Amino acid sequence: MADAVVVGSGPNGLAAAVILARAGLEVEVYEAADAIGGGCRTAEVTLPGFHHDLCAGAHPMAVASPFFRAFDLKAHGVELLTPQVSYAHPLDGGRAGLAWLDLEHTVDGLGRDGRAWQRLFGPLVRKWEDLVALIMSDLRHPPLDPAGLLRMDPGIELRMARRMIEQSTPLWGLRFREDIAPALLTGVASHAIRPPRSLPGAGVSLLLGALAHVAGWPVPRGGSQAIIDALADDFTTHGGRIFTGHRVDSLDDFADVRAVLLDLAPAEFQRIATLPAAYDFALDKFRYGGAACKVDFALSGPVPWRAHGCDRAGTLHLVGTRAEAVAAEKAVAAGKFAERPYVLAIQPGVVDSTRAPEGKQTFYTYAHVPNGSTADLTEAVTAQVERFAPGFRDLVLASTVRTAATMPAHNANYIGGDISAGAMTVRQTVFRPAPRWNPYSTPLRGVYLCSSATPPGPGVHGMNGYYAARHALRREFDVLTDPLELLTDHWRN
Ligand SMILES: Cc1cc2nc3c(=O)[nH]c(=O)nc-3n(C[C@H](O)[C@H](O)[C@H](O)COP(=O)(O)OP(=O)(O)OC[C@H]3O[C@@H](n4cnc5c(N)ncnc54)[C@H](O)[C@@H]3O)c2cc1C
Repeated sequence: MADAVVVGSGPNGLAAAVILARAGLEVEVYEAADAIGGGCRTAEVTLPGFHHDLCAGAHPMAVASPFFRAFDLKAHGVELLTPQVSYAHPLDGGRAGLAWLDLEHTVDGLGRDGRAWQRLFGPLVRKWEDLVALIMSDLRHPPLDPAGLLRMDPGIELRMARRMIEQSTPLWGLRFREDIAPALLTGVASHAIRPPRSLPGAGVSLLLGALAHVAGWPVPRGGSQAIIDALADDFTTHGGRIFTGHRVDSLDDFADVRAVLLDLAPAEFQRIATLPAAYDFALDKFRYGGAACKVDFALSGPVPWRAHGCDRAGTLHLVGTRAEAVAAEKAVAAGKFAERPYVLAIQPGVVDSTRAPEGKQTFYTYAHVPNGSTADLTEAVTAQVERFAPGFRDLVLASTVRTAATMPAHNANYIGGDISAGAMTVRQTVFRPAPRWNPYSTPLRGVYLCSSATPPGPGVHGMNGYYAARHALRREFDVLTDPLELLTDHWRN
């Protein structure tokens, strides 16, 4: 019998599995889908030879995360390719905001708002490791190193707090005088699929915005699946076993296993377990938020962006001005469709020629929609791209759509198409998934949650898996070593 079982093979499930296996335990992973990876998979879903990222496509968080830095993706054969422009935000009239990897280059391009951008991001970029330690913490304890010393400069909390308050209140426009910089910033805040002028929106825009000028927003050569394959290789090298096509329907199957880690949304946990009433009630109150309709395109050539510089961007936010972004997100939060939706696009071909046959391109998009939406937004997305890149429509060889309503069939964690596995409200950022001091432990002995429905929330960073595995090792196996140490060269065999 296994010492530990992980249910779900998303980045957090596999991060936990790698840690537990490296601690010398016998570990098994059970995955409902026929392929591993959860929200980090790549597949040919349009035409042969076109490799599309089915969910996560750009990886600022993987490159910055303490878990992945210790794991060392490069040493595991993952090549992270970094576009010169981390993200672009085209506006009507052939103009665009460009967030270059180089902060100074970005500042130069933002005209009268360049200095304001510099003052907003400069201090965060300089202290990016402290910023990451804070935002990717368990939101309970100050991040400590193995010697028990604080892992971050406490001043970062003040800098972030000041900026978050500014960017979540009517003050958010005060530092800017033109329209490009505010639109550029709002495009990032909208990743939270919340009204962008909010604390979660501000947190997301400041973290991802700073990382854009640190190591950029890279894409892995060959697709996001490369990250998953690296984790899975390491796991099996350390004796782990993976079972795909195995949906777990009852925790009773693992009654004799000492530690069970669930890479699951709370609703799926409730489905497979009998929980004490108070905890069950708390999980009932957990809310699922705005959703995504994913549309992937196979193109006969690069997107003909009207604005200079968009052709160098890995990621683009297609929505227009700050006011348009606010209107689009407000509509979704109210359960309605935006007239012109927020569209997030990724063009991996700017740095990775392996994604499509020679001369051709894959083009990744998703539009924000209300939770549970059955609408196919292919036409709305096409129109939004065409708005900033006339002639786009003529390049489309094939496309495929996954509506919000069909998202759970692909991955049960994305309830109603909520790609964050739980709305990123202020309450649910801290009390994720329930108001508990230890969000990873559950009232069931030996059962832990390790999915993005726990702090520090969604994204491919593996930190939820890291924290859950750390608790499981301490409580169930008396292993007190920091899992980050288990990942270093010293421990590799
Ligand atoms: C469209 C989309 C775009 C995204 N873009 C980005 C991006 O660009 N960058 C980024 O960093 N993040 C992005 N994300 C978010 C990121 O993919 C997720 O936050 C991340 O994958 C969460 O990892 P996880 O391990 O917690 O869960 P998941 O990756 O969701 O994995 C959960 C796994 O559990 C399995 N499972 C569920 N129920 C059961 C069961 N009963 N039995 C067995 N297995 C089960 C599922 O099949 C799945 O494989 C995106 C997500 C989506 C959907």
